[in-house]
Amino acid sequence: MSTLRTRLILVFMAATLAPLCLIGWLSVRLLNYSLALAPTAELDQVSRSLEKTGHELIRRASDSLKQDAAAGRVLPQAFPAATRANWPPAVQEFFSSGETENFILTGHQGDRIEYLLRRGDGVAMYTASLNGISMQPLSDQYSGARALVAAAGTHDWRRGFTYTYLLLAAAIWLVTFLALFYFAQRISHPIQELTKGLSEVATGHMDYRVPEGRNDEIGTAARAFNNMAEELKQSQERLVYVTRLESWQALARKMAHEVKNSLTPIRLTMEEIAARQSGSGGEFYEQAAQIVVDEVLSLERRVRAFSEFSAEPPVSPKPIDINSLLEERIAFLRTAHPEVVYSTRLAPDRPRVFADEDLVKGVLTNLLENAAQAVSPGGTVLGVTISAGDKITIEVHDSGPGVSLQARSSLFQPSISFKRGGMGLGLSIARKSALLAGGDILLVPGELGGAAFRVLLPVA
Ligand code: ADP
Repeated sequence: MSTLRTRLILVFMAATLAPLCLIGWLSVRLLNYSLALAPTAELDQVSRSLEKTGHELIRRASDSLKQDAAAGRVLPQAFPAATRANWPPAVQEFFSSGETENFILTGHQGDRIEYLLRRGDGVAMYTASLNGISMQPLSDQYSGARALVAAAGTHDWRRGFTYTYLLLAAAIWLVTFLALFYFAQRISHPIQELTKGLSEVATGHMDYRVPEGRNDEIGTAARAFNNMAEELKQSQERLVYVTRLESWQALARKMAHEVKNSLTPIRLTMEEIAARQSGSGGEFYEQAAQIVVDEVLSLERRVRAFSEFSAEPPVSPKPIDINSLLEERIAFLRTAHPEVVYSTRLAPDRPRVFADEDLVKGVLTNLLENAAQAVSPGGTVLGVTISAGDKITIEVHDSGPGVSLQARSSLFQPSISFKRGGMGLGLSIARKSALLAGGDILLVPGELGGAAFRVLLPVA
């Protein structure tokens, strides 16, 4: 598979191998050239000549001394057999060797030559000077040079240098390659994760998230992806909610229309019956008629609520001072529920939301009314506004019992409630209004021990 990692590795190889081969070839050539210039060969020649000259010098001096000795031009030092115990070691050694004659270098650093000649049981020793030429240093020098040349011959410097150089270059390249492999892996792996995340979200798995945990651009991309997936999930939920609400509205509209058509004639007829029966002692009829009329009036109120729920009033958003609106709604509620204590904690910068004023009023009234109904006398309802980012938060907390588990499961779902003072539509209408304004409503943990609802509205 042609992955990003493979491509990076191929690019690296293409970018490094060609120059590396070129540099290697050049270096080996230069090395060979410089080794060819090495002075070993000259040293070899000089040392050989020196050795030859030394040997020649000694040979000539030896020949001359031998001739002089034979001609009697030099006198020998005699070592008779009687004094053998006192002979110098060199003479003793010569005598023991069984040779008839020998030449040895003596004096200071070999500046003299001695000719030893066996004479019966004794030895005669002739001596001549080398005229100031010390043979010992000469011999040491050419021996050293010869040893150096011999050592250079046993080492294949050329091959050694070439192999070491190539090995070093290959090792450095390999380390760089491994580092690149590691980084390529670190880059390509999160991209694969992101691609997988994208296909998961595209196939509807909105809960799929990619690991973040990095502080570089890839970490930022992973966080952006997760935020996007979360936004998408919420948008999808809102869409589902609005779609479901629309089908409910259609049903409510139809139902309200049908029921209203029947309720009005029933109420008018019952009022007529009650009017006609009065005076003829029909107290029972009067009460019965009143009960029917009351129930019909109650049904008519609900039908009106359904009509309102299904209605889609024109929305005209504008900037609204949300602190003032919340305070105004609380003041409005104070007269209806004087037994409740109201408090506020308002954002100091007087935030303004951009929404339809009637819709926001409806939302706040519903939440405050629910809260006031939930708390017992002396209980508290708290209104909060917070301004942060591109959304304004409005919260309504109460010290009531909190939302029951049963109510929680279908809190924002429209339902038909026949309990006193409630229709079961308030929160669904409020959420629809908030969604229409570009915000939302959520149930959040309460500060006062009871329920708390958070309204999010766009900032103006
Ligand atoms: P209703 O017209 O019945 O009040 P809502 O949609 O406004 O309809 O509320 C739905 C249900 O949510 C209520 O019946 C109630 O059980 C619950 N509820 C709403 N607000 C609160 C609150 N502040 N405290 C406790 N329960 C609440």
